Amino acid sequence: MHYQVDLVEWTEGLEHFGVYEAIRPHNPSNFAMRFIWKRFIPLKFAFTTWLCLHGRLPIKNAINFIDIDKKCSLCEVAMENINHLFFTCTFSKQVWENLSKWVGITRNTFLINGAIKRNHRDSRGTRPRSKMCVLAIMASVFHLWRTRNALYYDNVAADVNRTSTTILKNVYQVMYKFYPNMG
Ligand SMILES: [Zn+2]
Repeated sequence: MHYQVDLVEWTEGLEHFGVYEAIRPHNPSNFAMRFIWKRFIPLKFAFTTWLCLHGRLPIKNAINFIDIDKKCSLCEVAMENINHLFFTCTFSKQVWENLSKWVGITRNTFLINGAIKRNHRDSRGTRPRSKMCVLAIMASVFHLWRTRNALYYDNVAADVNRTSTTILKNVYQVMYKFYPNMG
């Protein structure tokens, strides 16, 4: 699938420069600096998204030093890799569908950095909306990862509606802080 290759290529592109180069503040054209580390994005969302884009989350298919079941923690059907866990998993798909309905994230966003860029570009000129979409994508990455961990490590059942509404609530809380008059 091409988007999987894209993600790998993109991640390797950043790897090539090294972590420090990727986050150094004097390179404003860098993707991470331009889109991820923003004042309005809560640090926990930015940090998880950044780790995800760098292939640094302990996703099962990346764990080779211990023998574990590599099936997706959420659906227990497919193999757990970044692309599956965050996009093609039946659980994640339903969460994105809810978010695309509620927040208006551009559909077919199967590449996190691409989705962030596209939503940023699509709504240029209407800054609050653009901010909201980018924020919603990063909040989703954070909460999908959190839902997965709660299930995998603590046996907390994953619930599409609970995860979706938590994301929406978080998005509104942040937006209200920055745009108290948005209504
Ligand atoms: Zn799955």
